[in-house]
Amino acid sequence: MDYVIPPTPQASVPVLGSDARFPVHRIYCVGRNYVEHAKEMGFTGREPPFFFLKPADAVLPVNAGETGRMPYPTLTQDLHHEIELVAAIGKGGSNIAAADALQHIWGYAVGLDMTRRDLQSDMKKQGRPWSIGKGFDASAPIGPITPAAQAGNVQQAAIWLQVNGADRQRSNVSQLIWNLAETIEHLSRAWTLQPGDLIFTGTPEGVGAVVRGDVLEGGIDGLAPLRVALV
Ligand code: MN
Repeated sequence: MDYVIPPTPQASVPVLGSDARFPVHRIYCVGRNYVEHAKEMGFTGREPPFFFLKPADAVLPVNAGETGRMPYPTLTQDLHHEIELVAAIGKGGSNIAAADALQHIWGYAVGLDMTRRDLQSDMKKQGRPWSIGKGFDASAPIGPITPAAQAGNVQQAAIWLQVNGADRQRSNVSQLIWNLAETIEHLSRAWTLQPGDLIFTGTPEGVGAVVRGDVLEGGIDGLAPLRVALV
């Protein structure tokens, strides 16, 4: 195949214990999926899950034991951290039943859904798309993917984020409003999931601003931690 311009390199994420990488197809994100976070954003009650996307090349892959370097993005005065469990899809499909959903997961990682909160809030007020608040370059730092068989029970695991060594977010994945299987059921009705898709499952309470020079360290029990410096 000839292309009229060079094709962009395949976005990918490291895999724990392997030199092979996980190729990223799409990045789906679930909004307001922990009760206490929904409350802090001004919402109450269980609403159907809703989704937004980030471009595949918004990933900022960080190798095990390394510190990623995220450039502080343009246009914002209020960059927020959102620590999240990320599921990596290995087997695609549409209309996947929740009971079958976990078979579609290749592995899990710790990710950050970095958010230009001021821009997102402006867009919300105007009823406009969130893309500028959520889908900017390097907005999805992610640690190495742990294959599902080695990951343990991530659905009942502690999830936490520290900034410069101090706790900011601390909860448990069991507190998800829509668990991973239910999320995949809903998501796969709207889109045909493909191998390579990443699903950011939502963040617990405690989101807040970070500034240039801050070091973010997040983890989920049973997965490789994620460490990112804002530069
Ligand atoms: Mn999020």
